[in-house]
Amino acid sequence: MPEKIKLAYLLAGGCAGCDMAVVDLSETLLDVLPHLEIVFWAPTVADVKYKDLEAMPDGSIDLGLVSGMIRLSEQEHMTRVMRKKCKTLVALGACASLGGIPGMANMHTKEEIYQTAYFDTYSTDNPEGVIPQTKCLVDGKYELTLPEFYKDVRPVSAVVEVDYFTGGCPPHHSFIGAALTAVLEGKLPPRGSWLTSGKAVCDVCARNPAQRGRERELIREVRRVVDARPDPEKCLLQEGYICLGPVTQGDCNAQCPGVNIPCRGCGGPIPGVKDFGLRAVSAIAGSMADEKLVDQIDCPAKLFYRYSLPSSILGGKLK
Ligand code: SF4
Ligand code: SF4
Repeated sequence: MPEKIKLAYLLAGGCAGCDMAVVDLSETLLDVLPHLEIVFWAPTVADVKYKDLEAMPDGSIDLGLVSGMIRLSEQEHMTRVMRKKCKTLVALGACASLGGIPGMANMHTKEEIYQTAYFDTYSTDNPEGVIPQTKCLVDGKYELTLPEFYKDVRPVSAVVEVDYFTGGCPPHHSFIGAALTAVLEGKLPPRGSWLTSGKAVCDVCARNPAQRGRERELIREVRRVVDARPDPEKCLLQEGYICLGPVTQGDCNAQCPGVNIPCRGCGGPIPGVKDFGLRAVSAIAGSMADEKLVDQIDCPAKLFYRYSLPSSILGGKLK
């Protein structure tokens, strides 16, 4: 391992859950921390300004982590600055790698989003109908600016070249530990790869019928966990709870299925899959005894593309 590497962290458009996950590395953090010099971590952890990063020489930072998606011009600008300054750039978590949960907003127009956020919600009190402006004059003399709100959410790779991707919402600490250790030890796969064991959630799930020497059965009804209590001994999908474990990376160790929660795909697609949602539809439909069961799935677009709509090859065709 090198003595120390310089690390920068940018939270673009996210909830800071990925930042929390890094801090949650616990014992692994103790192992890697002596080898890290954190030169930038904004806007959550360090008291640094964007201009501090802008002033650093290009290529002077060994590793950059970007979490969150791109929705605002500020996020795009700072992600571009990160790319310039960092030798290796990792998209950390589902938002950065795929667009994430905020990406479901791509099923709605910017006008619809403003209408809901600034007019229609019960807690909104906006009698003058004010909506965000990129520039406004206060007291006739102070010009204030806000970043532009783009019409769509994009993953980081839509704005800059990304060297490595990690999944998770937030990423399991094993994702992050593996990523940091791989960079520190210089044992990285080809650029553009996901940092993953390559296993699917089903491969590491204790409910997998194959682990008990049984055949997988076809789905005969669609259920939701709010309506019934899953049998802890059986595969959720086989029981009719739509679980996306067959197509999702399993570096999380199948923690959600372990507590009766079907996998929703936050880990990202298993290797070789270009469009998570399309592969998920095909895997689930292929597991059904009768294709008409698909009609029983509520909001299939938001189920199959919960974390990956902005990365879909379908683009804006899903509304
Ligand atoms: Fe938050 Fe999940 Fe996005 Fe990370 S991937 S910023 S935890 S919503
Ligand atoms: Fe586990 Fe879900 Fe795969 Fe079944 S479909 S084995 S519950 S991850």
